[in-house]
Amino acid sequence: MPHQAQEYDVVIAGGGLAGRSLAYFLSREPELTGARILIIDDAEERYPHRSLIYWHDNALPLPLTPAATFTSLAVDAGPAQQVLPLKRHRLCLTSSRAVFRCLDEVIDANPHITRLDAQVSRVRAHADSVEVALSDGRLFTASHCFDSTVPLTGIKAPLLMSGEVRRVRTAHDAFDPSIATFIDFRSGEHHPVHFHCVLPISTREAVVEVTRIMPGKVPTPEFSFEQATSAYLREVWGVSKFSLVSVERGSIPLGIRPSSPRGSHVPIGCPSGAVKATTGYGFTRILRQTQHIASTLASTGSPDTPRPSPRFR
Ligand SMILES: Cc1cc2nc3c(=O)[nH]c(=O)nc-3n(C[C@H](O)[C@H](O)[C@H](O)COP(=O)(O)OP(=O)(O)OC[C@H]3O[C@@H](n4cnc5c(N)ncnc54)[C@H](O)[C@@H]3O)c2cc1C
Repeated sequence: MPHQAQEYDVVIAGGGLAGRSLAYFLSREPELTGARILIIDDAEERYPHRSLIYWHDNALPLPLTPAATFTSLAVDAGPAQQVLPLKRHRLCLTSSRAVFRCLDEVIDANPHITRLDAQVSRVRAHADSVEVALSDGRLFTASHCFDSTVPLTGIKAPLLMSGEVRRVRTAHDAFDPSIATFIDFRSGEHHPVHFHCVLPISTREAVVEVTRIMPGKVPTPEFSFEQATSAYLREVWGVSKFSLVSVERGSIPLGIRPSSPRGSHVPIGCPSGAVKATTGYGFTRILRQTQHIASTLASTGSPDTPRPSPRFR
């Protein structure tokens, strides 16, 4: 028997960074008090913990205290490192866990938000509404669907940025917590091309990220991120002994052509092109995007989605 569609004002497909940010900003719009919002996510408990690095030159629209803030940047300038004082911008380190804690506090206090652990299988836009189907057959209708789920087929990224992030602790002072080392190509091995970033949290603890960027279609050569980081810390930093606090692994497809809104079906987050192709960063852009959508929806009834500039892509 076909399922009877349940009605909401807004369905948010995907409850990761973009979906939850949007729910957060919608909850803060007085004009939208009482709006029925449904968040559908298939990874409520499985969402991987992730360090988040971001640039900003202003206050974030979130009450978030970063784990570290850097006012100087050491960059690989050929034969020598150069330390550049940052003027307007800051480089900050936080985590998806800290960000989600901030967002969830507001989302969970909104009695009109329902969270569903389920998989979206189809979103279909009609003239003035949208229909969202789940893989278990349930159906929902809403005035708008904001979608950060990535279709499993049809997406080919020109580049793939893969990396590992290690939080390391040393027995002796090894790091300067005011200086971040950014995109450092100094390392013994050059194939495949890779670089490190070192974000110290204290003189004896740092987040060390190793990244490589490969064409999406080329088979990936053998490469040990772990060995690359150990060699880098030993040869460049003189750190041969350290204990490992945590390891994160992940890949970011870069240069994906953003999908456009179709009527009331509006892409947000990664599928909308919010991740910058040069750095793989999207956090602050996603906050700005979802804040803008929520405020235009509240003030005009019709959400405006800022398009990423061609320079950003
Ligand atoms: C490994 C990695 C590291 C990154 N590091 C940084 C960083 O340091 N700084 C920075 O600024 N940006 C970073 N980014 C980029 C960007 O900020 C993140 O990718 C961010 O999580 C994007 O938000 P999103 O909501 O679009 O996607 P996600 O946060 O991935 O959320 C999408 C959600 O949709 C759910 N979902 C998917 N398909 C379905 C479906 N069919 N039905 C239901 N739910 C579904 C997923 O489970 C997920 O919870 C990183 C990205 C990755 C992958």
